[in-house]
Amino acid sequence: MTLNLAPVENVLLDHHGKCPNCGTNWDGGSIFDVLREQDWCKEKSAAELQAHIDDCYGTDRPQRFSRIVGISCYERDRVIVWQCPDCNKSWPR
Ligand SMILES: [Zn+2]
Repeated sequence: MTLNLAPVENVLLDHHGKCPNCGTNWDGGSIFDVLREQDWCKEKSAAELQAHIDDCYGTDRPQRFSRIVGISCYERDRVIVWQCPDCNKSWPR
């Protein structure tokens, strides 16, 4: 797979903000609200669900999903490129 990367830009991407290229919103909604609607979480109390989210996603960043696409490198086992799902522009991580 060949990635067509733009020259490295000093762009600080806000994964819950707007794409600096096309302007679409990358916010994917509250993790709590999304999980609340899923069958496997229906029997959890609000406190239990919040504790699960705190454990899995941490409490030091927004507990929101992002629509931005992370492209991983198999050998390095980490995301190396972020890509907008709407305009497909990519930024090196
Ligand atoms: Zn975009």
